[in-house]
Amino acid sequence: MTAPDHQDAADREDAPDREAADRQDAGSGARDAADRQDATLAVEVPAGRSRRVGIMGGTFDPIHHGHLVAASEVADLFDLDEVVFVPTGQPWQKVHRTVSPAEHRYLMTVVATASNPRFWVSRVDIDRPGLTYTVDTVRDIAAIRPGAELFFITGADALQAILSWKDAELVFQMCHLIGVTRPGYHLSGDHLPPDIVTLLDVPAMAISSSAVRERVVGSRPIWYLVPDGVVQYIGKHQLYR
Ligand code: ATP
Ligand code: MG
Repeated sequence: MTAPDHQDAADREDAPDREAADRQDAGSGARDAADRQDATLAVEVPAGRSRRVGIMGGTFDPIHHGHLVAASEVADLFDLDEVVFVPTGQPWQKVHRTVSPAEHRYLMTVVATASNPRFWVSRVDIDRPGLTYTVDTVRDIAAIRPGAELFFITGADALQAILSWKDAELVFQMCHLIGVTRPGYHLSGDHLPPDIVTLLDVPAMAISSSAVRERVVGSRPIWYLVPDGVVQYIGKHQLYR
C-alpha cells in the first residue's frame, strides 16, 4: 500500500484546469451522449418514495475494486436505486503528477461499471469548464435527477478535508454524506456538523489508484485489483508507462 494521501478533496476542489477551453468546445455533443445514457438506465423506483441516488466522485485514474465495493455496499445498505460515478475534470496536476486524460478515466469507469444495472457514469465534471467543485457536481446530478434524494459517498481520507470544500454548507443541504472506511485511514465525522454524515464499515480493500499505477510502472500484475476490462484498457492504451 502507498503512503496515505490526504489530497483527494484538494484534488477535486483546487485543481487548475488546462483543458477547460477544449471541453467547452466539445461539451454539448458529449453532454447529449451522457443524457442519452441517463435516459436508458432501466431502474424502477418503488412507488411512493423518491429515487435514491448515490454519487461517487473521484479521479478514477484508474477506477479499482475499492471504489466499486464501497459503492456497492452503500447501495445495498442505503437501498439506493442507482449510483452515479463522476470522474473529475482534468486537473493539470495531482500531487506531483499529471493525471491521465479525462476521456481515458471516463471510459475506464464506464468499462468497470457497465455490468451493474444500477451503476452509471456521468460526464458532468469532465464536460464542465473550470475547476471541479463538489457543489457543482451535486447540483448537476440533482438537475438530471429532479426530486431524488442524494447521497454523496466519500472515503475516510476525503472526508477529513470536506470542510475546506467550496460551499460545503450547500453540499450538506443538497445531499447526505456517507463516509466509508478505507484501510490506512481513520474514519471520523467529529469535525462535521451533526446529522449530515453517516459512517459506514465497508469490506476492507487496501487498494489505491496510486498503487495500481506504481505496479504498472514496475511491470507487476494488476489483475484482481481492478476489473479485467480495466486491466485490458490500460494495456491497450499503454497508460501509466
Ligand atoms: P489516488 O491514489 O490516485 O489518490 P484513490 O485510490 O485515492 O486514487 P480516488 O479517485 O482519489 O482514488 O478516490 C475517489 C473516492 O474513493 C474518494 O472518496 C476515496 O476516499 C474513495 N476510495 C478510494 N479508494 C478506496 C478504498 N480502497 N476503499 C474505500 N474508499 C476508497
Ligand atoms: Mg485519492
